[in-house]
Amino acid sequence: MTQSTVSSRALKVPPRTIMTPGPVEVDPRVLRAMSMPILGQFDPAFTQIMNEVMEMLREAFQTKNHWSYPIDGTSRAGIEALIAGLIEPGDKMLVPIYGRFGDLFVEIGERYGADIHTMECPWGTVFDPEEVIAEIKKVRPKVVALVHGETSTGRMQPLAEIGRACRELGVLLVVDSVATFCGTAVKADEWCLDAVIGGAQKCLSVPPGIVPITYNERVEKEILKRKKVERGIATDADRKSAEGRMPIRSNYFDLGQLQDYWSERRLNHHTEATSMEYALHEGLRLVLDEGLENRFARHRLNEAALMAGIEAMGLDLFGDPTCKMPTVTCVKVPIGVNGDEVRSVLLSHFGIEIAGSFGSLQGKIWRIGTMGYGCRQDNVLAVLAGLEASLIRCGAQVNRGEGLQAAIDVYEKAGE
Ligand SMILES: *Cc1c(COP(=O)(O)O)cnc(C)c1O
Repeated sequence: MTQSTVSSRALKVPPRTIMTPGPVEVDPRVLRAMSMPILGQFDPAFTQIMNEVMEMLREAFQTKNHWSYPIDGTSRAGIEALIAGLIEPGDKMLVPIYGRFGDLFVEIGERYGADIHTMECPWGTVFDPEEVIAEIKKVRPKVVALVHGETSTGRMQPLAEIGRACRELGVLLVVDSVATFCGTAVKADEWCLDAVIGGAQKCLSVPPGIVPITYNERVEKEILKRKKVERGIATDADRKSAEGRMPIRSNYFDLGQLQDYWSERRLNHHTEATSMEYALHEGLRLVLDEGLENRFARHRLNEAALMAGIEAMGLDLFGDPTCKMPTVTCVKVPIGVNGDEVRSVLLSHFGIEIAGSFGSLQGKIWRIGTMGYGCRQDNVLAVLAGLEASLIRCGAQVNRGEGLQAAIDVYEKAGE
């Protein structure tokens, strides 16, 4: 018998420059917050941290919604919690799909028994809001589920008109803003979004494992109607609001029970992920200290420099430029070049990671994220330098040296 040597090996985490659409590099302040001692989940010191998180989330989502709190799990946990709470078997749900994350709404909706209606537009474009509104009038769904920033194609769907129409028609609008939250404006109240899922490991730059959500009273009302009237802990008010409808089909994602933990009642549900809560608290402080507008401007500037560099290098950007997401830039892999080979040279020689894409775009585009803490001049210049060298290494033709100069021009013009 030979003894296992795994335990004698130290955890090996190589230094990386992450320029993917998430997970992204985390500010050292957030990592330090995560190393704070664990508090009990009902300790007043901890519940105060929870309340502060709620308050900061309202600011970040630009909402007055009381229910602005995190779900434990990665971003799809937030999507699943809202679908689980709103969809009963047979409820109609309309999903306009313009990339892979629209399919995720369909996948989760189906599992909860939704009567799914979809509409699609070509990847690389978004919907004309009028087209979506016409479909809403035709289908008359209970819920419209829409992605704000489609990470797979780098496009961003305008939401205000659709939001207004949903409000007028009495339809609930659920929005996945996982890849845009804290990188570009997400205006929950102004755009009439009933429920919004934000992301942690993208522009907020907190490690994956927690997901901020917000929802208004229209959603809360639906949740309370389905509240499980539990023996022992139900109050008369609980019994009164429960309409005997089907209880939410998930225990972990029961927003009714989670509300009881995130309210002054502090009823036990699952153990809150303490260290992730600290990380979220510190991440939100960083966002609000910078200021939302400053943060959005920083994302736009780095996006502009990256795009200028890519084009000056002689590469083409993918997708309709009028609906481009400021936090993800999609680049066409030049004909005759193996996109994965370039990515692997970039990773092994420069320690820089960029992403490929999915489905019909697999092997055809690279996706470069400029998100949160990683959205910086040094990272943008590093990825341009590394990409150029890797392309040359893989035998591609590029305009040598021009990409970096064009990007530096953008920064100098902006006075950086
Ligand atoms: C990353 C992402 C998700 C999924 O998040 P997970 O953390 O992997 O669960 C969902 N929607 C969009 C738009 C995303 O970019």
